[in-house]
Amino acid sequence: MTLANGRHYLAIPGPSVMPDRVLQAMHRPAPNIYRGELVDMVETIVPDLKTVGGTRHNVAMYICNGHGSWEAALTNCFSRGDKVLVLGTGRFGVNWGEMAGALGLDVQLLDFGSRSDVDLAVVSEALEADTEHRIKGVLAVQVDTSTSVKNDIKGIRGCLDDAAHPALLLSDNIACLGCDEFHMDDWGVDVMVTGSQKGLMTPPGMAFVYFNDKADEARAIADLVTPYWDWQPRIDPDYFYRYFCGTAPTHHLYGLRTALDMIVHEEGIPAVWRRHAVLAEAIWAALEVWGQAGPVRANIAERVKRSNAVTLVNFGPGNGLRLREWMEHSYGVTLGIPLDGVDGPGTTLDDFLRIGHMGHVNGQMVMGVLAGLQAGMSALQIPHGPTGLEAAMKVIAEAA
Ligand SMILES: *Cc1c(COP(=O)(O)O)cnc(C)c1O
Repeated sequence: MTLANGRHYLAIPGPSVMPDRVLQAMHRPAPNIYRGELVDMVETIVPDLKTVGGTRHNVAMYICNGHGSWEAALTNCFSRGDKVLVLGTGRFGVNWGEMAGALGLDVQLLDFGSRSDVDLAVVSEALEADTEHRIKGVLAVQVDTSTSVKNDIKGIRGCLDDAAHPALLLSDNIACLGCDEFHMDDWGVDVMVTGSQKGLMTPPGMAFVYFNDKADEARAIADLVTPYWDWQPRIDPDYFYRYFCGTAPTHHLYGLRTALDMIVHEEGIPAVWRRHAVLAEAIWAALEVWGQAGPVRANIAERVKRSNAVTLVNFGPGNGLRLREWMEHSYGVTLGIPLDGVDGPGTTLDDFLRIGHMGHVNGQMVMGVLAGLQAGMSALQIPHGPTGLEAAMKVIAEAA
């Protein structure tokens, strides 16, 4: 006997839950890729993507995952030997920096570890020390999905401005666009990358590179630009085929159109952010109570530094693995694995799990995950404060 049979729930930090409406929009015969409905629809997708990112500037669309958008951003902005300052707060920031190194960039990594956000004082110091302005770009991650930390992107822009430093600011928002508040233009971000499969509720396979005019000026002299990743033809195609440097991702576009209808035109971005914030708070309230009588703790201590899209939790020795197995096989929820590097002194990777709460997620889904975790802790005899669920329900009751 198992209680896992029934509709399975993948509560990992991407791919996220896809709305049935998105899937239904994709279920159709292949459209004409040269003219007509599909071509007209793409013209409506671009402005909505800009709204989600908070920009009046440009969005280039690619057929790839998030890693592709990293390479697109780097190759359009830089030349071999250019120096970039990489702000590491987990696997994703560090890996983006490694990709930059592999492309021939000179990487200066500031590694803030797996339990902290970017320390702005350290960034300022590095920028002020660079009196010759050799640093051409700062690579930041708004939410590092491996640690679930949220960085202060606007604050990083402040460091550049205070140092009167001309480097570009590039932000990886793959985990959190449409979940955590973000304003590309108001926060002075020059390049932002994101993917289809997290906050945007569409299957993996499309990614987006947002860039402003300053970044486009960098592209004019960048020697890493390649024909496929070049963002120029993708923003102002003289014919539609060039938007995607080949065949359009036809069915993804139908799915994305529907997802953007839901996010931008039906719920509205501020309400989407608010929903994510309340659901995240409910999760954190449960963790806090469980932790009062057991080993449970959120990886990031301060709530203001946590993402509303994903939470990395330490459940005590070996318990992350045991709970993930229990949740999947006995309860019907798959939780996220921990990624390398989040364990530190006195811990192992098996202590951790990640809860994805991004995108098409509501109160009953989050409460279902939390109830499963509390039942799992009881079943596996993991000590915990007994009223975590009540604390989560109180958050929901007060917000709803
Ligand atoms: C998911 C993610 C990536 C990688 O995206 P892929 O689609 O798996 O290539 C990069 N950065 C962040 C912050 C992410 O959350």
